[in-house]
Amino acid sequence: MYTDKVREGLTSVDLMKTITAKFAQQWATIRKAFSDLNKDTASQGYISKSELNFYLNHWGLKLTDAQFDRVYNAFDVDGDGKISYNDFQKSLGPEIYPSETLYFRQDKPHAAYQKKCKQFQCWQPACGNGNYCSMHNRMHNDEVESFYRNLYKLCDKGKWRKFTDKVQQAASPEDNFKVVELDKFERIVKSMIGLDISDEKRDLLFNTSGRVYRGSKYINIGMIY
Ligand SMILES: [Zn+2]
Repeated sequence: MYTDKVREGLTSVDLMKTITAKFAQQWATIRKAFSDLNKDTASQGYISKSELNFYLNHWGLKLTDAQFDRVYNAFDVDGDGKISYNDFQKSLGPEIYPSETLYFRQDKPHAAYQKKCKQFQCWQPACGNGNYCSMHNRMHNDEVESFYRNLYKLCDKGKWRKFTDKVQQAASPEDNFKVVELDKFERIVKSMIGLDISDEKRDLLFNTSGRVYRGSKYINIGMIY
């Protein structure tokens, strides 16, 4: 009896490892994994037990009820009985890159100030309040994404968590911690990851997701959480 319990306890650690690896194999980003799992409209905003169970079955993992509960509870980091995006990100954060698309402020531009795309020799109108046309937006978003992916690769698991915490502390709460002063961001990247951001990359970050506020440049860093 006792050894059964020990054995079951041990295998649930292995189970979590297996499940985490399956997630990392199947999805490139946490955001995509979360939205794919979260199909049931009755449980919008969190992953229900049946949704998690669907994927475990799909992967051919046969769990006892007790094992399943332990896995579900391990994902439910804050212990409120539901797996929210936050819980999910905290459990898988070090294993999968968090996001895939930049979060943009979609303010409507004033018609009289419709800008042209900032890209050299492009004559398309700029999208929304942004600096680029839709094609160059996508191109630069990809570049920004690969910039962040590179930062992620330069960190070990613990360091990435510390880095994003530090950025979050420097970000402004009224913007949901998604907007940070570019200079501050640059200093944090330098001090924590040891990387100098080139002028070219500064421009890329600013032109893609930046705005000026009280004379300082701010960028949107929603992509890294
Ligand atoms: Zn363009």
